[in-house]
Amino acid sequence: ILPVVAIVGRPNVGKSTLFNRLAGKKLALVDDLPGVTRDRREGEGRLFDLDFRIVDTAGFEEADPDTLPGRMRAQTEAALGEADVVLFLIDARAGVTPLDKTIAQWLRVQPRPVILVANKVEGRATSEAGLSESYELGLDEPVAFSAEHGEGMVELYDALRPYI
Ligand code: GDP
Ligand code: MG
Repeated sequence: ILPVVAIVGRPNVGKSTLFNRLAGKKLALVDDLPGVTRDRREGEGRLFDLDFRIVDTAGFEEADPDTLPGRMRAQTEAALGEADVVLFLIDARAGVTPLDKTIAQWLRVQPRPVILVANKVEGRATSEAGLSESYELGLDEPVAFSAEHGEGMVELYDALRPYI
């Protein structure tokens, strides 16, 4: 049985792009409209020599922010319930948003280990707002990453390896 890695985050941070990169095959739909994921997608993930199941959660996307955390919990809990480790994505270019903080608050009180991933950091752009603001989330230092360009894979590997 493979360990399960769940990808969590607000809309448009790059969850499906990360899923596609780790799943190797394009099992997730990255729709024309940014931030749209129709269903929860699952596939076999691989990162160097790590093999796992990867789940792209859409629960936070479908939830009306007014009804957080109720609906988001219901929709994401199933995925998190079977996860061994959670990848929590933020958009480093956009900085930390109120919804990021709401999700972080919720992740901090559930028992799975959480790896914070600051996505959309291309070319070691250390000035991105999300990198300096991420301390506001009360989680460990983020992995600077670019799902679109495949940068930060070694750092993500190092962060994931203890749990796989
Ligand atoms: P999701 O809503 O969290 O699943 O996000 P998507 O994977 O659908 O991506 C949302 C948008 O961000 C798309 O336009 C992607 O092309 C873009 N995106 C994803 N990853 C990166 C990245 O590493 N860098 C940049 N610049 N854009 C990205
Ligand atoms: Mg998506």
